[in-house]
Amino acid sequence: MSRFFSSALQGIEPYVPGEQPKDQQYIKLNTNESPYPPAPTVMEAIDREAVSSLRLYSDPTAATLIDALADTYGVPTSSVFVGNGSDEVLAFAFHAFGENGFTAPALSYGFYPVFAAFFGIPFTPCPMKADLSIDMETLAKTERGSIVIANPNAQTGLYITPSEIEVLAIKAPGVLIVDEAYIDFGGESAIPLTKKYDNLLIVGTFSKSRNLAGARVGYAIGCAELIDDLNRLKFSFNPYNLNRLSILAATATLRDPDYFRDCTKRIICTREKTKKELIALGFAVTDSRANFLLARPPFMHGRDLYLALRERGILVRYLGDPHIPDYIRITIGSEEEMAAFLTATKQILEEKQS
Ligand code: PMP
Repeated sequence: MSRFFSSALQGIEPYVPGEQPKDQQYIKLNTNESPYPPAPTVMEAIDREAVSSLRLYSDPTAATLIDALADTYGVPTSSVFVGNGSDEVLAFAFHAFGENGFTAPALSYGFYPVFAAFFGIPFTPCPMKADLSIDMETLAKTERGSIVIANPNAQTGLYITPSEIEVLAIKAPGVLIVDEAYIDFGGESAIPLTKKYDNLLIVGTFSKSRNLAGARVGYAIGCAELIDDLNRLKFSFNPYNLNRLSILAATATLRDPDYFRDCTKRIICTREKTKKELIALGFAVTDSRANFLLARPPFMHGRDLYLALRERGILVRYLGDPHIPDYIRITIGSEEEMAAFLTATKQILEEKQS
């Protein structure tokens, strides 16, 4: 820390992303990326002409992408905001709607408390139920400020239905943000409810089910007034928040719904297969509707299994959160990657037992 760093920011504890090591080739099952490449339409869109146009600024309104998202989700363009990854969208939303604080499930996306600290927003974690699910009844008793939940929830993958979200939207004293980063892996989106509730903001990403984590594209869908608030902040901070190539890539991927459906179907299928195998090995596994599994190994601590897998060139995530101290989180990779993961896991467990 330099002696020039603002005193107000010195207490911030930055979010720690999953490791991206360069020391060797790993099977990467630690940051919930897609094992599949971007859609063929994306490959076609990023041509020489697109690269040559990089001399020009990008469209600050990202109109082609906003139009494509509005079309895809059946909402007016005035209901759509886009940002540099959903992390940036969430940051704008925290800044815009955090005046009276934010409440979130105690076990969820680790960035929520970091955003709150960054903007000096009071943050209240809502205790989890014993089965690691979100306590919707307690959340609904929030008396002040805005609420953010991830659905399916980060880390656990546990899912709640749009009707449960509707109940919360009615009771929420401020904005209710539903972070649907993982919704395409077996959940139903609450986007249609944004037409009914002016306090509901759905946040989505192209990083998971659209295979574009490196393009950094996220979006928010809500009533025109909420979207206008987000645009006020964006145009006061970074009007060109999406670059030309990312706008092209994200717009192009929305033109290939079959590829999207095929990839998500395959990931769901691999997830269910992997889950069955882990349960057969004695793991406790949550009922995840995301592109990852949260699993507690038998005979050994999650951290030890994480380390042993790492030694074998397989990266999973050990979160060390007090709610799940002995669990690991495994991103669903390709069939081959998951077979390698399961083989290594079996070997490790056998060695441990012998
Ligand atoms: N929300 C949740 C629940 C996440 O797990 C992630 C990915 N780490 C994000 C948002 C951010 O995704 P991105 O910025 O890549 O859109």
